[in-house]
Amino acid sequence: MGLYDALWRAAEGKPEQRAFSGPDLGAEGVSYGALHARAGRWAAGLQALGVGPGDRVLVQAEKSVEVVVLYLATLRTGACYVPLNTAYTATEMAYFFADAAPTVAVLPAPEALAAHADGCCCLTLDALAAQLDEEREALAPVLRSAEDLAAILYTSGTTGRSKGAMLSHGNLLSNAQALRSLWGWQADDVLVHSLPIYHVHGLFVALHCAMLEPSEVRFLPRFSPEAVLEALPGATVFMGVPTHYVRLLDAPGLTVEASAAMRLWVSGSAPLRPETHEAFEARTGHKILERYGMSEAGMITSNPLEGARIPGTVGFVLPEGEVRLRSEEGAPVPEGAVGVLEIRGPNVFSGYWRQPEKTAESFRDGWFITGDMAQIDETGRVSIVGRHKDLVISGGLNVYPREVESVLDTLPGIEESAVFGVPHRDFGEAVVAAVVLKVDAYPGENATLAALREALAAFKVPKALFPVAALPRNTMGKVQKNQLRADYALTFRETSGATP
Ligand code: AMP
Repeated sequence: MGLYDALWRAAEGKPEQRAFSGPDLGAEGVSYGALHARAGRWAAGLQALGVGPGDRVLVQAEKSVEVVVLYLATLRTGACYVPLNTAYTATEMAYFFADAAPTVAVLPAPEALAAHADGCCCLTLDALAAQLDEEREALAPVLRSAEDLAAILYTSGTTGRSKGAMLSHGNLLSNAQALRSLWGWQADDVLVHSLPIYHVHGLFVALHCAMLEPSEVRFLPRFSPEAVLEALPGATVFMGVPTHYVRLLDAPGLTVEASAAMRLWVSGSAPLRPETHEAFEARTGHKILERYGMSEAGMITSNPLEGARIPGTVGFVLPEGEVRLRSEEGAPVPEGAVGVLEIRGPNVFSGYWRQPEKTAESFRDGWFITGDMAQIDETGRVSIVGRHKDLVISGGLNVYPREVESVLDTLPGIEESAVFGVPHRDFGEAVVAAVVLKVDAYPGENATLAALREALAAFKVPKALFPVAALPRNTMGKVQKNQLRADYALTFRETSGATP
């Protein structure tokens, strides 16, 4: 069965059930009946714009119910949904646009990509909504099989360029069904949703669980501790990144009483520090459930709903999935030792969009090489101990050092650079850079950071630049980022509540 069919069938007998409530959605919110009826009309409208099975619909838009309708409508036409981070600049978008070759693209400033349009219909969400809301008969869901492509999520590697992870209907549906049962989803659950919806966490994990039941989503435009605390009375589930928990702990309103109706707090997308887990339990009486996943596979492991949720571990592999550890060369590692985590299962993607070589490099005998370093104990409990590559996760968002370095190195006065992450209480990790300067040509830190902000999304811009005489390198010429991380580990030791 296709993903859309499953979501539609779940809602079929319950058109009155509330799907979305929230600050701008009126007293009644949006019902599942209204949501799917609109998706049906929008699907017919998309088809009229030339969107058919397998075509890409690329979306860079602020979070709203309309974006969810567009997601559902895209699935309903049999096309493939390509969400993109709203922080990407026009230069970054040009790459995604060329790579995904969409039939329809929803963009905040469509004229910026007009030169690359090549037959693609580029417009703002408002303009598209106005067209698609016109009276027309709903399109019957186009039949899709488990192998058909449902979405492309752009991720990246340390090799620089983003790669599009191709996720099938079977990948997404099997993962949603597994989580629904694992986390004991119920019809009267109310999810507080403050995550972005261009990422696996907010779009797939959170929304699919609620839609499969179907149950209510309190849809907040973005995370703030105040907005979440205001939405808590009567809510039962929250999903956030570790930074959200750190910020909630800073809010005096987070109390046992405030979270009285809650049954489940989920954390993921980056490591949750055990101190945060413990402080949260002391404040609210709730143990956060930490899970681990990635764009290429949705959720991979989860701490249990019933049973011990152990801080610093990400729990057990999901039913039907498999995990194993290998050395970099592919040899099995001794029991209890650290190795690179490899995974297999119905949730694992089939490959990277139009990148057969990258796909081939990422699999070993049918197992996907996650690039995360992990340990597995004798009960099968997984702990992620670090990232094999040098990915920095700042506030739950991935920053690939290579990409930042490649921009930095082109700026005046920069001889070379090494970008890495250092601990930060608020963001988990902060992006920083060691830079070797050509002093005469260097315009200063402020001008350099301003130039970086022009080219890169704000979350990727280093929070500090450290001038060094030379980058530390090993005999093979590789920059020793471990050493840099150790040298600058205490940079943000005293930071609390800083803004990005
Ligand atoms: P993304 O594809 O953006 O979801 O990023 C996936 C990466 O986030 C994984 O490969 C991990 O390195 C990291 N990650 C996600 N969840 C966790 C977690 N609970 N603990 C540690 N790392 C995590």
